[in-house]
Amino acid sequence: MLKGKTALVTGSTSGIGLGIAKALAAQGANVVLNGFGDVDGPKAEVAALGVQVAYHGADMSKPAEIADMLTYAAQQFGRVDILVNNAGIQHVSRIESFAPERWDAIIAINLSSAFHATRLALPAMQAAGWGRIINVASVHGLVASAEKAAYVAAKHGVVGLTKVTALENATTGITCNAICPGWVLTPLVQKQVDAKATALGVSNEEATRLLLGEKEPSMQFTTPEELGALAVFFCSPAGNNVRGVAWNMDGGWAAQ
Ligand code: NAD
Repeated sequence: MLKGKTALVTGSTSGIGLGIAKALAAQGANVVLNGFGDVDGPKAEVAALGVQVAYHGADMSKPAEIADMLTYAAQQFGRVDILVNNAGIQHVSRIESFAPERWDAIIAINLSSAFHATRLALPAMQAAGWGRIINVASVHGLVASAEKAAYVAAKHGVVGLTKVTALENATTGITCNAICPGWVLTPLVQKQVDAKATALGVSNEEATRLLLGEKEPSMQFTTPEELGALAVFFCSPAGNNVRGVAWNMDGGWAAQ
């Protein structure tokens, strides 16, 4: 379905981004990966799906590096047809003790990077008359939790940016939508499970059960594969008139 298209997925060396990159590659899209840590493993996983893979190591907190990545992607594959703004970090603390540098980093990586990548990707999509922008927000783009001020603010911002991007391109073939996962067992969440296990002096299994039980009625993690399937739907012809939605896949979290 996506043969001949190019997808740039930020923060795709791990977790949800890698899951979405693989789902788009399975539909034939060439992929530009981005993110820190091991690069060869994720590249090989995507290449095994029979598509071309490139990588750019832009730090998503740096607008100049984001611009360099968009230029690189266009050089490699002609243009970016599908932009997935996924890179993100977390920091957990009450507001009065929340380190200002952590606030700045989360706003830069989780929110401003999506604005920069979007503003740089749109002109080529507009010239082509087709594009898909998928913002990986969070259920925290819809509701809040204590001790996550920067994350919740950034993700609510991402949902707002999604709506504006959708509206400004509503008469074109470019759509923009947000995905709002509940808990997904990636390194980002494993850190929170580990912190809970240490704080309460309980096993990893018990900490996982407590984490899910606090918020997620299904008592199940959403998987990167399920999120990848939703991204593929947004890219499909059936998604042509889905514009500006924030679609939660959260085991009932926001329904409560
Ligand atoms: P993860 O830690 O597994 O992956 C994060 C990715 O972002 C990695 O590839 C990492 O290298 C990259 N990254 C981090 N900082 C970066 C930077 N400055 N520049 C470039 N890349 C950077 O986390 P994940 O759980 O897969 O999270 C992916 C997205 O999904 C995030 O936006 C997160 O907020 C969101 N999300 C996660 C969950 C969850 O439960 N895991 C739930 C809702 C939303």
